[in-house]
Amino acid sequence: MPRFDVISQGEELLSGSTVDTNAGWVCHELAQIGLEPGRVTVVGDVLDDIRDVLGESAARVPVVICTGGLGPTSDDLTSEAAAAAFGQALATNAEALAQVEERYRARKREMPPANRKQAVLPTEATVLENRLGTAPGFRMEIGGAVLYFLPGVPYEMKAMVMEHVIPELRARFALPPRRTVVIRCMGIAESVAAQKMEGFERAGVIVGYRAHMPEVHVKLHLAPELDGAALVLEVRERLGNVIFGVDCGPLAEVVGQHLRARGETIATAESCTAGRIAAALGAIPGASDYLLGGAVVYSNAEKVRQCGVDPDLIAAHGAVSEPVARALAEGIRAQVGTTWGLAVTGIAGPSGGSPDKPVGTVHLALAGPSGTTHRKISLPFERERVLTFTVGAALDLLRRTLEGDT
Ligand code: AMP
Ligand code: MG
Repeated sequence: MPRFDVISQGEELLSGSTVDTNAGWVCHELAQIGLEPGRVTVVGDVLDDIRDVLGESAARVPVVICTGGLGPTSDDLTSEAAAAAFGQALATNAEALAQVEERYRARKREMPPANRKQAVLPTEATVLENRLGTAPGFRMEIGGAVLYFLPGVPYEMKAMVMEHVIPELRARFALPPRRTVVIRCMGIAESVAAQKMEGFERAGVIVGYRAHMPEVHVKLHLAPELDGAALVLEVRERLGNVIFGVDCGPLAEVVGQHLRARGETIATAESCTAGRIAAALGAIPGASDYLLGGAVVYSNAEKVRQCGVDPDLIAAHGAVSEPVARALAEGIRAQVGTTWGLAVTGIAGPSGGSPDKPVGTVHLALAGPSGTTHRKISLPFERERVLTFTVGAALDLLRRTLEGDT
């Protein structure tokens, strides 16, 4: 497999004020098409340092991806460093200049003179269009190596990798096309999924994992001649019903599709998540077909007022308890008049825990036409994660119930 180096450039990356997310993303994407990550280097805005790492990488691997330093200011030195590294002169590149000018024309803005600098490139560089920003990228061929110079702004860089770098590298190294099947899971840790998938890889199949809180994605990169559906079935045998979909949208979209297909409706009663479950459902276009409403019932008084929970029940069991979760789900279902009532009550932390109800104790309940189901989960995490996973677990309880598997 051809190897590649990534060079992330910028003083802010060295000082720690910006985290280098570009390198990891590039490594992941290029590995997916069959290239092997070699080395990642972070370098500041120092001409000689940039020159040296460029020269070193071009001599050791056939592909180099450099991000950052293409801006108009004096600390943007990539062009100069590339020219110095490979013994080329710098000159205004007419095509690059036209692209920079066009960006300003499109935005109906005057181009500041400083931006002319973004079109000054090593003489033998080939311009790469940046549709999303002013700084064009460029490519250089040095010996047997190809070097890509891309903007540091992550979304511009990503678009250029997808539009220029990946298609060119596929062609250059005759990389076999691979299909990627994304198997989306809820309620399983990445490490557990990896363990259950052990030994699954075979000729033409590469397995990748990505934690996408609260989901975990298992990706199958497949040679084109393989039967994807049969392989997904095999994965289902290994992972079971934590899989909520294949090549699909987020869990809220999947449960929304179920509800729409059944002509059913839902309302939520949320204590600790304070509306996040309703927000997740409502983020999906067309949610008004099934999401009728919801209540944020943070205080005990609101649990009583909005969901008709018996105050004695709260006094007897506490707000974070199975009986109260059930009463909330049943109460909101009755109040709004929906097919389903989904409720959560829990201790998100960092304070409020006790020995018998530690932080991360969450009760979920789903009331429906044939009764109410309840789940108690323990999420020993910090607050944000507790809330994220609570939303996932609540939607997953709904999903499993709608699929007839509880
Ligand atoms: P530059 O292209 O060097 O002018 O970078 C533009 C902006 O992109 C910087 O201010 C950073 O916020 C961001 N950026 C640059 N490099 C990276 C990187 N490796 N990872 C994440 N963000 C970056
Ligand atoms: Mg910079």
